[in-house]
Amino acid sequence: MTKTDIKSLPYEELEQWILANGEKKYRAAQLYQWMHQKLAGNPDAMTNIPGSLKIKIRESCVFTVLKQAACQVSAQDGTRKYLFQLADGNMVESVLMRYKHGNSVCISSQVGCRMGCRFCASAIDGLVRNLTPAEMLEQVYRISSDIGERISHVVVMGTGEPLDNYENLLIFLRMLTDEYGLNISQRNVTVSTCGLVPKICALAKEKLQITLALSLHASSQEKRERLMPVAKSCDIQELMDVCRYYFEETGRRITLEYSLIAGENDTKEDAAELAKLIGDLNCHVNLIPVNPVRECNYRQPDRRAVLVFKNLLEKYQKTVTIRKEMGRDIDGACGQLRRSYAEQSASLRAFPERQDSQR
Ligand code: SAH
Repeated sequence: MTKTDIKSLPYEELEQWILANGEKKYRAAQLYQWMHQKLAGNPDAMTNIPGSLKIKIRESCVFTVLKQAACQVSAQDGTRKYLFQLADGNMVESVLMRYKHGNSVCISSQVGCRMGCRFCASAIDGLVRNLTPAEMLEQVYRISSDIGERISHVVVMGTGEPLDNYENLLIFLRMLTDEYGLNISQRNVTVSTCGLVPKICALAKEKLQITLALSLHASSQEKRERLMPVAKSCDIQELMDVCRYYFEETGRRITLEYSLIAGENDTKEDAAELAKLIGDLNCHVNLIPVNPVRECNYRQPDRRAVLVFKNLLEKYQKTVTIRKEMGRDIDGACGQLRRSYAEQSASLRAFPERQDSQR
C-alpha cells in the first residue's frame, strides 16, 4: 500500500482522509493547524491528537520533515543559506534573506533541474526528481522554526524549474497562502520561470495574485538560445505575448530577470534591443550581475557597465532595479552549496580515509 503524503494534502483532502479513517471532522482542523501553523516537527508534538490517530498516521502516512544538514550564516547581513536532507537522502538548498519589510525565503522546487541554462549551477547534473508540496512547504517551515520568526515573503527561485513541477507547485502555492496555514499573502509570493509558455498560460488562468518572474537574460531569440537551451522550444515573441496575457488575467506586473554576463548580453545594443522587445509590457526589469559558477566561464560586467545598461533602459522609460546582493560573504550561485556537499560526499565514498583529515 502506498502511504498518504499527509502534509501535502490541502485542507479539504485532509478532511476526506480523516473521515475515511473513521475520525471526527474537527480532527482535520486540529491536524492541519499542527502541521501548517504550529509547524510540528513530528506527530508526537501534537498534544491534543489522540494516540490512536497518531498510530494511524505513523502506519499509513508519510509525515514529511526536512533535516537541516548545514547552514551558512552571513556575518554581513544575516542571510542564512540552508542545506536540507530529504527522506530519500537527496539534498535541497534554501535561503533566508532578512529585509526591513520582513523575512523572505527562497525555496527549491526540484532536486536538480533539466533546463540546462549555461550559467546555472543547478543545471549541471540534470534533474533528479520533483519535490512534493510538503517538501516545498517544509523548507519554509523549518526556516521559520529555526529562527523563531514569521516568514512574510517566499520566492520560488532556488534549484529547479517550478513550472516543470506544475501540479505540486499549485498545491504548494495554495497551501502556503491558505488562511489555515501560514497565510502568506499571495502578493508576497514570486514564482520564477525560464519560460514554459503553456504552463505560464495555465498559471494565468488560475488568477492567483502571485508575481511571475520570467528569466529572460537575452534580447533576441538567437542570444537566448545560446544561454538557455530551453529557448529552442519557444519563440521569444510568444514569450512576451504570454507575459502580456498573464498581466491581463491577473493584473500583476511581470518581473523580467536579466543576468548580465560580460561580453555576452551587456552591450548598449543589447539594452536598446531589450527595450524594444519589452515594448509596452507592464513589467519591471531586474538586472542580476551573473554569479560566477566554478564550472562555467561567465564573468560579471564591471559595476560601471551595469550602471550604463541600467541608465540606457531607463532612457527608454523602463523600470529597472539592480538586484541587491545578499550574503556576499557566503556567496556562490544558488545550487553551489548542494554541489559542494555532493562532491565532498562522493570523494568521501571514493577515499574514506579522507574523512578524518577533513574534520
Ligand atoms: N528555473 C527558474 C527558477 C530558478 S533560477 C528560472 O529559470 O527562473 C532563479 C533565477 O536565477 C533565474 O532567473 C536564473 O536564470 C538565475 N540564475 C541562475 N544561475 C545564475 C547565476 N549563476 N547568476 C545569476 N543568475 C542566475
